[in-house]
Amino acid sequence: MDCIFCKIACGEIKADIEYQDDKIVIFHDLNPQAPVHLLAIPKDHIQSLDHINESNCNAVSHIFKHLPKIAKKFGIENGYRLVSNCGEKAGQTVNHLHFHILGGRDMRWPPG
Ligand code: 5GP
Ligand code: ZN
Repeated sequence: MDCIFCKIACGEIKADIEYQDDKIVIFHDLNPQAPVHLLAIPKDHIQSLDHINESNCNAVSHIFKHLPKIAKKFGIENGYRLVSNCGEKAGQTVNHLHFHILGGRDMRWPPG
């Protein structure tokens, strides 16, 4: 499968990795939209939020479990945003489930 994030997960494509274990990888976005812009992905290919199910949701909760540690490490625990664009209309450009972790600046609401 020609998937950039699968290739980052297996080390075939280089990324600036902050954390990884057997289930997930957290790395810096190539085109940051905030002073802190990380991407958290499951190592196994899941297309989007809309493809989470009973058998693959473990990796997703594993990502959530790591958020407080990551926020503290980057000093953004006083305010950060988690975003997952699901599907073309929401602006998903890489079809491998990922969560944007954005922080280090004031965030606006509603998002565009
Ligand atoms: P989406 O638009 O699907 O929500 O987010 C995809 C994100 O992946 C974008 O913010 C984009 O900058 C990032 N991205 C795309 N290709 C690469 C890559 O090869 N390496 C890294 N580190 N980030 C990437
Ligand atoms: Zn993939």
